[in-house]
Amino acid sequence: MRQNKNSNMKFIVILTLLVVVILAAVAVFSNKEESLPTETKQIDVTGQPTLGEKDAPVTIVEFGDFKCPSCKTWGERIYPELVKDYIETGQVKFSFVNVLFHGEESTLASIAAESVFERNPDSYWAFHQALFAAQPDENHDGQWVTPEKILQIASSYPEIDQSLLKTDMEQEATMESVKIDEDLVKEVGVSMTPSIAINGKMMEDPFDYDAIKSAIEQEIKDKN
Ligand code: CA
Repeated sequence: MRQNKNSNMKFIVILTLLVVVILAAVAVFSNKEESLPTETKQIDVTGQPTLGEKDAPVTIVEFGDFKCPSCKTWGERIYPELVKDYIETGQVKFSFVNVLFHGEESTLASIAAESVFERNPDSYWAFHQALFAAQPDENHDGQWVTPEKILQIASSYPEIDQSLLKTDMEQEATMESVKIDEDLVKEVGVSMTPSIAINGKMMEDPFDYDAIKSAIEQEIKDKN
């Protein structure tokens, strides 16, 4: 009887220990998952300007703002590397989604960019880069995105109809597309610009090109 009670006790102790160990493992595992910066989220880029091969295995999405100085820097430092190393080789396709963190000027630039994308899709990326290039290096918080400035930038591209672009800006004709971007920004939970997502995984540091390369290589490996 005594022996029996003892082994019952042993069983209960072992069972309790087992439960504690399992709970601890679950806690460690879920903590680990929470701290991962690269949680995957499906990002729907239907209707977004996209550069590169349609069937490229890796999709990179930049959430950017024409008024944001870091986005300009990213476009000058990281983007050309990406184009050369991965977009031109057909491994990556690249989409840009407007973020409106700088208010009215971000919105105006986005409306204009969406208008060019709608009417002259082949001129979109050049116009996009020209908009960023026009961002002043100093006092970028001061107002510089105006309809006049945008028309002046567009005048370098004869295929862009100035009067249509002017009307589109006045009538906020592409606001629906801008709103789609705004909703996507909320849905994905973008909190800084630029934010760079690689097959839905958000990069912790958009300027760490080595990390971007590793993430791309990993995605290519996973697809094979
Ligand atoms: Ca868009």
